[in-house]
Amino acid sequence: MTVAQHNEQLDRVNAMAPEDMIRWAFEEHGPRAAIVTSFQDTGCVMIDMAHRAGVTPRVITIDTLRLPKETYDVMDRIEAKYDLTIERFQPDPERLAKMISNHGEYLFFDSKEKQEYCCRVRKVESNDRALATLDVWFTGLRRDQSQGRQDTEMARYVRAPDDPDRRVLKASPLVDWNTDRVWDYIKVYGVPYNALYDQGYTSLGCVICTTPTMPNEDKRAGRWRWFNAKNSALGANADKECGIHVEGSGI
Ligand code: SF4
Repeated sequence: MTVAQHNEQLDRVNAMAPEDMIRWAFEEHGPRAAIVTSFQDTGCVMIDMAHRAGVTPRVITIDTLRLPKETYDVMDRIEAKYDLTIERFQPDPERLAKMISNHGEYLFFDSKEKQEYCCRVRKVESNDRALATLDVWFTGLRRDQSQGRQDTEMARYVRAPDDPDRRVLKASPLVDWNTDRVWDYIKVYGVPYNALYDQGYTSLGCVICTTPTMPNEDKRAGRWRWFNAKNSALGANADKECGIHVEGSGI
């Protein structure tokens, strides 16, 4: 596609309601479209929307092998309720073994660089392998999740990791929803959700790296909490990203 064609497509997609965007993507692109989710609130809502729109979505998760039991539990409930099989992209075993052998299992405590290295091996590289199979990548990003996500676009084209000349449509149909709207949907439609939300968590990732938050905190304040003091000088949680959504990929 040319740049002009990409822009026309973005105009069309940006004008769609979330349900219509999801239906269009799966009808138009089939298995080249997927909801890529860590089973936070918004991802579960998108799966339900697809079901209500009459399409069976391809659902992908990045399984870091360090996810909490509650996340694996909600995956089981989603698979049962919507009669689908979640594709789990896991870290490359050799890369993982080398990282742990050189730096230990808990390297993410040492420095921001080592946290990003761990996230790259356990998350970003797996996500890149998933994106190599996709033309449309649905994410659950919302602007109210953190200061760093305030300018997130509903749809944009990003460079495919497997081919610098190829573009993937990155779509975040609920980008302008707030927490109340997401949870109203979950309650009204009985969407399965991660039990950690009932324990004070407002953002979900790997065990240890994710903790509950206080009411006055940013939703991502519980992620890599040991970096919060350093981040407060920069703007609370501004750079708390694992890497999947940075470097031109939407934030
Ligand atoms: S969230 Fe923590 S354990 Fe998970 S990949 Fe990132 S640094 Fe590693």
